Amino acid sequence: MKSIETYKFKGKRALIRVDFNVPLDDSFSIVDDSRILAALPTIKCVLEGGGVPILMSHLGRPKNGYTEQFSLRHLCQHLSELIGAEVLFANDCIGPEAESVVQAASECQVVLLENLRFHGGEKKGDDFFSKSLSKLGDVYINDAFGTAHRAHASTAIIANYFADEKMFGFLMNQEMLSLNTVLNESKKPFTAILGGAKITGKIEIINQLLNRVTNLIIGGGMAYTFIKATGGNIGASLIEEDRLELALKIMKNASDKGVQIYLPIDSINAQEISNDAPLKYTAINEIPTNWKGLDIGFKTIELFRNVILNSKTIMWNGPMGVFETTAFQEGTKEIAQAVSEATQNGAYSLVGGGDSVSAVNKFQLRDKISYVSTGGGGFIRIY
Ligand code: AMP
Repeated sequence: MKSIETYKFKGKRALIRVDFNVPLDDSFSIVDDSRILAALPTIKCVLEGGGVPILMSHLGRPKNGYTEQFSLRHLCQHLSELIGAEVLFANDCIGPEAESVVQAASECQVVLLENLRFHGGEKKGDDFFSKSLSKLGDVYINDAFGTAHRAHASTAIIANYFADEKMFGFLMNQEMLSLNTVLNESKKPFTAILGGAKITGKIEIINQLLNRVTNLIIGGGMAYTFIKATGGNIGASLIEEDRLELALKIMKNASDKGVQIYLPIDSINAQEISNDAPLKYTAINEIPTNWKGLDIGFKTIELFRNVILNSKTIMWNGPMGVFETTAFQEGTKEIAQAVSEATQNGAYSLVGGGDSVSAVNKFQLRDKISYVSTGGGGFIRIY
């Protein structure tokens, strides 16, 4: 492995795997460009060193080849403005089309390849596809933390085709450093806060965390499965019926390992997710039939706040309620505030996962968190 800090890019085509999986609106405008911003240091480093950045990424989940909605072409203009250089777009990420655009690119220009996932070989980690991609660069840089845990063609297999000329980008280095601080050098008490809709998809994270944390706070939609599993009435709240046993197992595991689990004690409920819907406040285990728990209540906020403010290391992934709707944003806002206060008092905080990152941005607390990770599912799995 080479280091991006010292590598001489002069005259080299640097094939960079970035994570440009950004949300687009109906007219294909970028809604949140954080992931592009996060890749800029690496792109600029190659340009300033006299190399040509060849950018490759996936966008969304296209099923059958080219789909306009998922074309990376929509990013070109904004990308060019952000980098301050001309961006040449290749309509395909491999083959003659890609090769000719790459050949035509000169110093001070950037190439953006079309969505990798228009080819099934990307997700399958196909060897031929990886090799075809590898032809486009003299050197390979992986700077796509969000997908780094997956053995896809452009994130893992491709590295086999660059014997020595490969390295991580700045974002990847930073992400790994911050994860290492949290997971392996964490000062205690270490509190992990998990929220969001589902337990499914977070099981691996939970198991990893139980070996490391002092406290595990569980909020958001996933908390209701735990409450139901322990005999509470959760009305029409989000529930994963097939995860009830798992929830109990997680609680037992936590207690065996001496990890304190904190679940919500009260709930803000409504019959629909709307700012105009009447609200009903109840204890977490007394939600009436037909009512959905959509945010944590003030007693829970108080409880979680105290735990957070007494922590020296904090990791947060997943909102405490349906924070996209103003009526149900208070819990997430208060928890974001508590994490930022703890950070001002000297704790190290890591916030990751798309929704928690949007929440921190929404409440303008980004610069009060030690590290905001671009990774979603990849957040912890690579460890
Ligand atoms: P995830 O992708 O599992 O992290 O889930 C994120 C989503 O969970 C966000 O869009 C939230 O609106 C949603 N969410 C959080 N709390 C709840 C809740 N109590 N009921 C339903 N959805 C929720």
